[in-house]
Amino acid sequence: MAQTAYDTDNIFAKILRGEIPSHRVYEDEAVVAFMDVMPQGPGHTLVVPKSPSRNLLDADPSTFGPLFTVVQKVARAVKQGFGADGVTIMQFNEPASGQTVYHLHVHVIPRFDGTPLKPHTGGMEKPEVLAQNAEKIRAALQS
Ligand code: AMP
Repeated sequence: MAQTAYDTDNIFAKILRGEIPSHRVYEDEAVVAFMDVMPQGPGHTLVVPKSPSRNLLDADPSTFGPLFTVVQKVARAVKQGFGADGVTIMQFNEPASGQTVYHLHVHVIPRFDGTPLKPHTGGMEKPEVLAQNAEKIRAALQS
């Protein structure tokens, strides 16, 4: 079945263009990382390539090297910054999988022994908490 076209007005495209605010923790020429506003746990970060695609299915394969290099950097930083026991990496493709924003992104979530994930797209986190968590990740990325 043919895929729906990429929508240049999706919320992550607007964040990438700076039209909507975000708590950015990392940026290079190909990739941006910022805090998820409805985190499934403290430190839940989204890693987003700048090149447009709905998801993994229509992405140019050249996207994945730079993207997963940053996924690894951010995974190490959230593990260190939050003293986590592990890190969950998730990525959804099309509505049937749970995707809700149609610009390719990878979820990076610090995990703690015995603590389950909160629901996907559950409650909004307070901006001040997101700002504090972003600072922890930035500090860990620089160490
Ligand atoms: P997915 O369901 O994989 O498409 O995930 C989209 C994620 O984006 C969800 O975890 C949402 O909580 C998150 N999200 C939605 N709007 C924003 C936003 N403005 N800034 C940061 N994260 C967002």
